[in-house]
Amino acid sequence: RTVYVNGDYLPENEAKVSIFDRGFLMADGVYEVTSVLGGKLIDFGGHLARLERSLAELDMDKPEGFDDLLEIHRELVRLNGIEEGMIYLQVTRGAPGGRDFAFPDPEVTKPTLVLFTQNKPGLAANPVAKKGIKVISIEDIRWGRRDIKTVQLLYPSMGKMMAKKAGCDDAWMVQDGAVTEGTSNNAYIVKGNKIITRQLSHDILHGITRAAVLRFAQEAQMEVEERAFTIAEAQAADEAFITSASTFVMPVVEIDGAKVGTGAPGNVAARLREIYLDESLKAAV
Ligand code: PMP
Repeated sequence: RTVYVNGDYLPENEAKVSIFDRGFLMADGVYEVTSVLGGKLIDFGGHLARLERSLAELDMDKPEGFDDLLEIHRELVRLNGIEEGMIYLQVTRGAPGGRDFAFPDPEVTKPTLVLFTQNKPGLAANPVAKKGIKVISIEDIRWGRRDIKTVQLLYPSMGKMMAKKAGCDDAWMVQDGAVTEGTSNNAYIVKGNKIITRQLSHDILHGITRAAVLRFAQEAQMEVEERAFTIAEAQAADEAFITSASTFVMPVVEIDGAKVGTGAPGNVAARLREIYLDESLKAAV
């Protein structure tokens, strides 16, 4: 596999980052994951805009190569022959040659930019979408700026492990009695014809897939309500689903052991998945 590190395309076993890199030592970094379908990038503009915002919120300089990111993504897709899969991008504050809590001088220490591809044939036709996933609920104990897409992913990883241990696929996190989001996705319920998902704030990641799906839902005359909901409300809903760049729209059929609706994927989630895949593929670059 060919990967990208600070201006160079290299075989993955020749790519190097310093042990002093603040991404490695302090999780001082941000990332994006963009899907590839039909050899093209899905929602690239949205991911680039959010990356720019994450960097600005953390007072981190744009890495060298920022203006060429579309070209870099495309070149990695080409070099690795990706038809369906993902591109992972990470920017960290770089390697000051030691360890200090204070940010290094940005004139001296430049950000590190790394990209690599993940080949996932059959991503769009994922059979899991036909049967749905099961989630557990866990307390949301993450920091208070979840709108910044940092590489600080230890608790979401622990949440995923708690879900696996419980025989489930993922965890929905709960704060002050209301669902914030999934470990790596935004959470939704459907009641009648209304799609309900938590409003944007510092408490959740502003999903790129979320923005697109809500836009498509409104264009299809579905009603959207942005507000917090509880696990009990979700268990009593007609449908539930998640969205993310790598799962698109994925039905949730069980929450803490309780079936949602009939316990089978719902029509709204199936329809939104179809619309999202169709429309975002048309707009892919
Ligand atoms: N919330 C969290 C916590 C996430 O990690 C992700 C995916 N990275 C999302 C939501 C979904 O965001 P997107 O649709 O941009 O992939």
